[in-house]
Amino acid sequence: MRTLFKNIKELLQVREAGLDFVAGEAMNDLPTIQDAYLLVEDGLIKDFGTMTDCPKVEVDEVVDATGKMILPTWCDSHTHLVYAGNRESEFVDKIKGLSYHEIAAKGGGILNSAKKLQETSEDDLYEQTKIRLDEIIALGTGAVEIKSGYGLTEASELKMLRVIKRLKENYKLPIKATFLGAHAVPTEYKDDKAGYLNMLVEKLMPKIAEESLAEFVDIFCEEGYFSVEDTEFIMEAGKKLGLISKIHVNQFTSIGGVQAGVKHEALSVDHLEEMKDEDIEALKGSKTMPVALPGCSFFLSIPYTPGRKMIDAGLPLALATDYNPGSSPSGNMNFAVSAACIKMKLTPEEAINAATINGAYAMGLQDTVGSIAVGKEANLILTKPINSYNFIPYSFGENQIESVYIKGHSII
Ligand SMILES: [Zn+2]
Repeated sequence: MRTLFKNIKELLQVREAGLDFVAGEAMNDLPTIQDAYLLVEDGLIKDFGTMTDCPKVEVDEVVDATGKMILPTWCDSHTHLVYAGNRESEFVDKIKGLSYHEIAAKGGGILNSAKKLQETSEDDLYEQTKIRLDEIIALGTGAVEIKSGYGLTEASELKMLRVIKRLKENYKLPIKATFLGAHAVPTEYKDDKAGYLNMLVEKLMPKIAEESLAEFVDIFCEEGYFSVEDTEFIMEAGKKLGLISKIHVNQFTSIGGVQAGVKHEALSVDHLEEMKDEDIEALKGSKTMPVALPGCSFFLSIPYTPGRKMIDAGLPLALATDYNPGSSPSGNMNFAVSAACIKMKLTPEEAINAATINGAYAMGLQDTVGSIAVGKEANLILTKPINSYNFIPYSFGENQIESVYIKGHSII
């Protein structure tokens, strides 16, 4: 199966294969080709260049992209897409002035989601999640990471991970699974956090590794949740089992989680709304990708990750949605890109790099997706007719997507 996209007004994010991520000043460089063609064969990018070099080959389908742009699909490296029900009643509590911590103390928050999830069957959970996954693909997401962490019991955590496994089997886009058993301490272990962590490490994680139910392990490192020591304990246990770390750190406080993540070679450290200078220093020269979640900052009215400062310090940055029922009930990467420009002062080039190639790296998918490179999966956004790619973040709350292609097949 061959598809030729021709007369593309501008083909964005064209790279040589083998690039892991971009950092610092290089984030402001978004290589493009104007008046381009793109040849897709059997779901992979086969060739691209300017129309003057367009090859005369037999193809099954020709897409005339006159006036439109093509870019790689968004790579959303941080979601909690599998959940049961919604938390709109807490949304109203929040409007009335209750804080995140007060809502959690009322029995809401993560524990509320866990209770609903425990009562939901695997099939129901799968069907609810499918709706959200279809929705974000239509919004241009072509690779996604999904976490457990709303189960908080052995059976329910495994249920979540099995739902993710079924999604992997039934969808063509790359999906990565993260075990986030240490999302909160469940009520049964209220006074025995160590006991809960031991159960995760001794009982659940070996089973997850053995059944290949997750690639990554995560923990919510935050005051009132899990300490830096707890975080190191989980990361070390993960490493022994081949589960790479991706951790929630510095959402409300900076307590040393970033340094611990770098020390244990976490693939990413996510949130980072509260960043001290020493946290930025710790990330310099590391292989750990900092990930900002602007949808969460918007929804909770908390500070945005200081992305401008971090990029100016030479760091890379990735953008993700944090799609979850409590603090970011939207998986719209177009909004994340707009918010990064509007609120974090990233340039459109930086935001697009953060949402594509760097997001791919934060899932270990830099060889598969995240740029227009020969051999990568043809997961593509075909835009509506637009004057420049700046229009993508500028038109916040909208999206400029005409079609989304996953492995060369049109989804919308
Ligand atoms: Zn999260």
